[in-house]
Amino acid sequence: MVSERQLEAIKGAKVLMVGAGGIGCELLKTLALSGFQDIHIIDMDTIEVSNLNRQFLFRQSHVGQSKAKVARDAVLKFRPQMSITAHHANVKDPKFNVEFFKQFNVVLNGLDNLDARRHVNRLCLAADVPLVESGTTGFLGQVTVHVKGKTECYECQPKPAPKTYPVCTITSTPSKFVHCIVWAKDLLFAKLFGDKNQENDLNVRSSDASSSAHAEDVFVRRKDEDIDQYGRRIYDHVFGYNIEVASSNEETWKNRNRPKPIYSADVMPENLTEQNGNVAKNCVVDTSSVSAMASLGLKNPQDTWTLLESSRIFLEALKLFFAKREKEIGNLSFDKDDQLAVEFVTAAANIRAASFGISLHSLFEAKGIAGNIVHAVATTNAIIAGLIVIEAIKVLLKDTDKYRMTYCLEHITKKMLLMPVEPYEPNKSCYVCSETPLSLEINTSRSKLRDFVEKIVKAKLGINFPLIMHGSNLLYEVGDDLDEVEVANYAANLEKVKIQASSVTLCSSPPDFCCSCNDADVLLFCFFNIFSLYFMSFYYLFLSCLRCYLSFLLQLLMGQCLP
Ligand SMILES: [Zn+2]
Repeated sequence: MVSERQLEAIKGAKVLMVGAGGIGCELLKTLALSGFQDIHIIDMDTIEVSNLNRQFLFRQSHVGQSKAKVARDAVLKFRPQMSITAHHANVKDPKFNVEFFKQFNVVLNGLDNLDARRHVNRLCLAADVPLVESGTTGFLGQVTVHVKGKTECYECQPKPAPKTYPVCTITSTPSKFVHCIVWAKDLLFAKLFGDKNQENDLNVRSSDASSSAHAEDVFVRRKDEDIDQYGRRIYDHVFGYNIEVASSNEETWKNRNRPKPIYSADVMPENLTEQNGNVAKNCVVDTSSVSAMASLGLKNPQDTWTLLESSRIFLEALKLFFAKREKEIGNLSFDKDDQLAVEFVTAAANIRAASFGISLHSLFEAKGIAGNIVHAVATTNAIIAGLIVIEAIKVLLKDTDKYRMTYCLEHITKKMLLMPVEPYEPNKSCYVCSETPLSLEINTSRSKLRDFVEKIVKAKLGINFPLIMHGSNLLYEVGDDLDEVEVANYAANLEKVKIQASSVTLCSSPPDFCCSCNDADVLLFCFFNIFSLYFMSFYYLFLSCLRCYLSFLLQLLMGQCLP
């Protein structure tokens, strides 16, 4: 039941919806049926076949079209009097600036990634527009309300990092299939097809003093070696030799099942490889269609391959990478949408699982685990969308006391599905919504400006258009309106270690960037306050040297050391 007061607020509201996917479709429908009249939608995605089972505003004929536009058209069919504006664009596009956000009474997020959520959070803070944020993972979901100065912002609490596993579990003592997947994806795949300069723990346990010669360059294809021989050598090394070395350590296996080494000749008698698919070289192919399953005649991704099938897929996939995608080798990183990569990783994980007595899994399951995919549930999206609208109405009425963060979860003991919690107050030390400056400590003798900009400012702090100043000097900025000279200067600055950068770029003025510190090992203190930056429609990052050495909060953000 909607009261007169609520109806009035709904009718007069101008709403921005970010995301027109799983939650977005449900949300737009619920907003329309609740009486909202003026809605803008931003979504950069186009409709895919896999969306159709739950994103019910879309049909087969819409595949390839803009989600935002098709969603608008679908809703206008049953609510033709509404005003719906669709933007087929990235919400991070500079045209959606603070001024753009200010026209709305409330912003509703139905996004699928952290980066865009942080971006919208900051724009809402800068524009002083309330944000209702949401997310679902399978049967779980949550809706939270963020109003500047009244509740915490989206970034007040650190977000849980993706689950990681101890290195030794992955390299030597896997006990679950996911450990085998992580090994196959992050170690073996990366070692064979990724950047050769990246550190890799693949040989951690097998490269003791006596075997270091053996481990040397084992992954590099020898000149006189054909691809079948190479594949079998890799197979025998990682599933045979390495396991044999690892299993010889008595201590490790006292309370665990000792793994058994697997050699290719035991699984696949020599003649079997002859039956592997023929790879014709030099014919032009669409790399996205290269598939070891296809060349071996395995069709159903939900079937669990035997050890023999996994072994054949392993060799075939490796062969196909060299035969059809050789140019990419050295630059590949695992992608759950890369069929051949998923086949290779599934096969390698299964062979390793067989060795450690862990049950084998299908490609479909392995892909889900490797890509951290939790299958979406339409009902959860519908519940969450309903809760978003309830909170949006409270926000429009400024019923501050009634705001709730609601978690959709199965609470076994209390037999409840929804758990409402009163929102927390803003976190006083949040570097996004409070005035608290963030201090960073950087080893300026080793860190280039590029490290600072790419790894910290962009990746960790989520600032997309930084402008780095030192006093009144501009060290770095991003934008479409820069001229060639500026672009070249900033690019050159990026490659400099910061102390050098300061003395070079500040040649026209005293190089006070590092103050009186001439010692190259001295650490530089930088100070900035992100929040104030957002009032300029793009983001300024002030970097100023207060003192040359100060304590710092970086570990809070990074949890790791600077380069
Ligand atoms: Zn905050």
